[in-house]
Amino acid sequence: MRTLSKKQVDLLSEICETPGAPGFEDSIRKVVIREIKKTADHFSIDNMGNVIAFKKGKSSDKKVMIGAHMDEIGFIVTFIDDNGFVYFNPLGGFDPKTLTAQRVIVHGKKDLIGVMGSKPIHVMTPEERTKGVKLTDFYIDMGMDKKEVEKHISIGNPITRQSKLIEMGNCVNCKSIDNRVSVFILIETLQQLKKPAFDVYAVFTVQEEVGVRGAQVATLQIQPDFGIGLDTTIAYDLPGAQAHENITKLGEGTAIKIMDGMTICDSRMVRFMKEVADKNKIKWQPEILPAGGTDTAGIQRMTAGGAIAGAISIPTRHLHQVIEMADKHDIKESINLLYECLLSLDKFNWDFEQ
Ligand SMILES: [Zn+2]
Repeated sequence: MRTLSKKQVDLLSEICETPGAPGFEDSIRKVVIREIKKTADHFSIDNMGNVIAFKKGKSSDKKVMIGAHMDEIGFIVTFIDDNGFVYFNPLGGFDPKTLTAQRVIVHGKKDLIGVMGSKPIHVMTPEERTKGVKLTDFYIDMGMDKKEVEKHISIGNPITRQSKLIEMGNCVNCKSIDNRVSVFILIETLQQLKKPAFDVYAVFTVQEEVGVRGAQVATLQIQPDFGIGLDTTIAYDLPGAQAHENITKLGEGTAIKIMDGMTICDSRMVRFMKEVADKNKIKWQPEILPAGGTDTAGIQRMTAGGAIAGAISIPTRHLHQVIEMADKHDIKESINLLYECLLSLDKFNWDFEQ
């Protein structure tokens, strides 16, 4: 079975555990730069903080842009009350029910652990017990009084989830599998890639979780002919789900995106990816996600005339919760598919289906 080595899991752990709320990607950017310095011909950082790694191809006739966002869903401090409790706004779409009693890290003058507090069940009214929680029901308990909290934390500091990557069976489980698994896949692919068919711009984007913002400006600058987005997608292969609701299944291979809420992938790119996967015996599954979007949307549309765009998605359970989970086999197959696509893009068939 194709899977990841111990060394690869160690790198993936570091990439997942490093904080990087939207707009505050400094720590994860440092890790990305350390890794791509080893393999890219050169790299640059644009004004928004996107990292653009360049790899020269056999031909410079066409440009290929790959996008993997390095931000993670998080929060930002909005208010500290008289008792030292911290209020926040979300940065990205959280499922509030998963936040109860979770540990978070508030990145102030130094990193401090806080806990997501809410009304204890003992004092809830019968009506409150049956209702779902809202994001605004939560506050962060720092275990300190206002004076102590304000020594370290101020309004505008970012907040991220706290968790360590663990292995479960053939799966990896951690916060931020969305989308650090793709950051890892792109780093690994660059490392293996000696001579791609065309020039490759591997972009580690910022602020995807708040609306594909980094990918848009990077695409405007690069003006790619081809685009490939890398991101996680829903694997709802769980109790209570019917077969038609799965979207994807864990362990069934990398997913070739056909569409999501923001993008209809170019049918020629979808055909190309399927052919490359089949030719190289890469296990894949189709993905149609009714809602949501990825950097693929920005890459496809933010250049004059558009880019021929598609996406490779990594099936992920418990997405946008605190314990996201992916399968090492699917991760490996995603590296394999991206690698083989970049090698053989010179054989791309421009003809539309008849
Ligand atoms: Zn994502």
